[in-house]
Amino acid sequence: IAPGHDAPLDELRSLAAEGRRHIASLQSRYVEETSVRTLRIKHNGMLGYFVEMPAREGERFVRPETDSPFIHRQTMANAVRFTTAELSDLAQRIASAGQEAEARQAALLAELAEAARAEARALQAMAEAIAGIDVLAGLAALAETRDFVRPLMSEAPVFHVEGGRHPVVEAALRARGEPFTGNDCRLGGEGEGHLWLVTGPNMAGKSTFLRQNALIVLLAQMGSFVPARAAEIGIVDRLFSRVGAADDIARGRSTFMVEMVETAAILNQASARSFVILDEIGRGTATFDGLSIAWATVEHLHDTLRARTLFATHYHELTGLTARLPGLRAVSMAVKEWRGTLVFLHEVGPGAADRSYGLQVARLAGLPPPVLRRAGAILKELEAQGGPAAMRRLVEELPLFAFAAAQGGEAPPVDGHPVLARLRALEPDTLSPREAQELIYALVALAREEM
Ligand code: ADP
Repeated sequence: IAPGHDAPLDELRSLAAEGRRHIASLQSRYVEETSVRTLRIKHNGMLGYFVEMPAREGERFVRPETDSPFIHRQTMANAVRFTTAELSDLAQRIASAGQEAEARQAALLAELAEAARAEARALQAMAEAIAGIDVLAGLAALAETRDFVRPLMSEAPVFHVEGGRHPVVEAALRARGEPFTGNDCRLGGEGEGHLWLVTGPNMAGKSTFLRQNALIVLLAQMGSFVPARAAEIGIVDRLFSRVGAADDIARGRSTFMVEMVETAAILNQASARSFVILDEIGRGTATFDGLSIAWATVEHLHDTLRARTLFATHYHELTGLTARLPGLRAVSMAVKEWRGTLVFLHEVGPGAADRSYGLQVARLAGLPPPVLRRAGAILKELEAQGGPAAMRRLVEELPLFAFAAAQGGEAPPVDGHPVLARLRALEPDTLSPREAQELIYALVALAREEM
């Protein structure tokens, strides 16, 4: 309760806070009234507050001839001590002023609460209105300072965004002085697909692109301007998003399980008026399982649900479906290879990514060179031999030590192999030609046994 609102409360507070000053002013009044210049008001634990006068001056107040406010309490060697009705009243009030101030304040607050309760409806309506104004003013400020545009809302099942941006990523980049690359997205119009398959290396900006479009839908439908140069948005009945691999291990659900539960929710609930973003499905399982699930999901979204969909995937095989599914378009995030490293352009363009650039991204991330070289060799073999079918064969046919030897150095430990054990034990200079030939037979036999 602010000072000035309630006079009794103010007095209680000043009494509590300025007790000393009140005592001092009482003392100067008594000095004046009694003409005893050495009169003092003191305090001790036994008497509390009392008036003390030198014995000589005080004597006449012990048994006063006239009416006197002083009531005798104690006679000392040199001094006499009194109390007065006024002083004990003041002492009493100082002692209880703190508590009384608290109580008075609580009572005032209860009164205020009662008054507020009586006006509850009006207050709630006002709070709601202010909250609404706050949100709208916030959005207006964003629109102004972040260059948002008013979206055109329509009944047609389209989604046309020109130069769309992700407001949060953009702000983060701006703080570092880096530009954000705006991207178009056109779904559902005449001659346009309603399902975009987005490919491109990790870090190229696929997730950002998916999320920014979902955010644009959300912002538009809550009445906000949107981060784009222009936007026409056919009203969406539900917005679905499956992004990231938020593990739920604590609740006993693996990454893949979470992924499938979320995908199931989309496939069971989305309609032709829905907007769906799917960021990588099927990655949590074996390649073929994952590819099959992603494939069937694309077909279902395309043929049955017909929802406007952005589908980011690593399975480049899926882009082959564009030949068969008329509403499917392949787009990719542009990258450039420059002096052996990868440059991300963050531009969405037509066509599928030519490859994943996984090794380049791994190099950017700082994987050790021997691991990168080894991965490069495996990849080359896999590609040459036609995909995962070759994998099992490769595991046997491209043994690690052969690779390391070819790379010259960094040989991994291979102590366990019997051929090598034989070779290590050998002194070539001591062998006769005949022994050498026998040794070769023996080594070949050993090597075959091992296979
Ligand atoms: P992906 O999903 O392809 O792995 P992300 O969407 O996670 O890639 O993007 C990786 C990073 O690239 C982002 O954190 C951001 O810094 C940057 N980025 C993404 N999109 C853009 C863009 N349009 N303009 C500028 N930078 C971007």
